[in-house]
Amino acid sequence: MRILLTNDDGIHAPGLKVLEEIAREFSDDIWICSPNDEQSGTGHSLTLTQPVRLRRFGERRFSVTGTPTDAVTIGLRKVMDGPPDVILSGVNRGANLGDDITYSGTVSAAIEGALAGIRSIALSQVYAREGMGDEVPFGAAREWGVRVLAPLLDVPLPKRTLVNINFPARAPEEVKGIRVVRQGFHDYSRGTVVEGRDPRGYKYYWFGLQAIEHTLDHGTDLEAIDEGYVAVTPLQLDLTHHASLGDLGERYAE
Ligand code: MN
Repeated sequence: MRILLTNDDGIHAPGLKVLEEIAREFSDDIWICSPNDEQSGTGHSLTLTQPVRLRRFGERRFSVTGTPTDAVTIGLRKVMDGPPDVILSGVNRGANLGDDITYSGTVSAAIEGALAGIRSIALSQVYAREGMGDEVPFGAAREWGVRVLAPLLDVPLPKRTLVNINFPARAPEEVKGIRVVRQGFHDYSRGTVVEGRDPRGYKYYWFGLQAIEHTLDHGTDLEAIDEGYVAVTPLQLDLTHHASLGDLGERYAE
């Protein structure tokens, strides 16, 4: 089995090393093509206005001076000599739950893989707010990764779908199990923007510093993580709200 690894935290991120350890339990044919620098929050963006450069760090180990989507695209079209069987993106430093998905570079790399018709899976390690900076522990992902991935590597996945995995912020032995759950909902409308002044006296703003409010609806990824389970959520690229097609169509009926 040939596996392409990528992420949105950059080629030197500790989570990518964890992902490589997990992937090597399944195969020796591992390729890495990830962004050179951290690209968290860049979503599914594609670099269109500046050149993208490829850097080589070793055999089958590359980075791209661009976004996660750029990295997957270059990985598939320029780096690898044939398509991978699986694309794994992560392990992200932090949650990609509920509505985080459209902001997420980690999930978007998997979306790019799904668009290319390749089995694609995003992995993220949730961490407690007090664990910041380089201190984010990846133990739950490391210990549960193989168990969670194994069924996903051969189960039939419909076209234009992908799988989003989140590991809870718990020590591996305190993780209660694995749940397959739907996407929950955040309330981003009340998110705080932190304002400060830089050392030169200019004002700056910083996003994403506070926990986002949400309700723990039953059967969601948010609830599963809160209760200490690994959350596995199948996602689809069809964002159409099918139930509205009829009503909306009638508004334009001649
Ligand atoms: Mn990230």
